[in-house]
Amino acid sequence: MKCPKCNNMETKVIDSRVVEAWFWIRRRRSCEYCEHRFTTYEKVAVTDLIVAKRDGTKEMYDRDKLRRALVVSFWKKNLSLEKIEEIISQLENKRSWMGKEITSKKIGEDVLNTLKNENDVAYIRFASVFMEFETKADFQEILRE
Ligand SMILES: [Zn+2]
Repeated sequence: MKCPKCNNMETKVIDSRVVEAWFWIRRRRSCEYCEHRFTTYEKVAVTDLIVAKRDGTKEMYDRDKLRRALVVSFWKKNLSLEKIEEIISQLENKRSWMGKEITSKKIGEDVLNTLKNENDVAYIRFASVFMEFETKADFQEILRE
């Protein structure tokens, strides 16, 4: 992000918050060269990614669905909406998410790795919401892992 004052390319984010129903992220930035501070509104990118589900069906990656699963599972467990949005952005920037296709299992694993300090109950809830685990065997599989 270029500094509007001196055109220097090195700016750092000093504050980041989600605005307007999560479609936009408001960032306060500061230029590392002239220290000019400015605000940007960045539209959340839509990733062109196909998710292969456990049952063999495929669907377009849906950021809203992932967010909902995270909100249902982790909200009020020290994870604010801003934090959840940040986690999703981090995940979407991973190399394995840049390809054409990803499995829902891989998404689940990446979420788990990102949130490994959070509690297990929340993760299992996430697995059941996002990965559509339904049977007892499904839960036993995730518990083993
Ligand atoms: Zn500057």
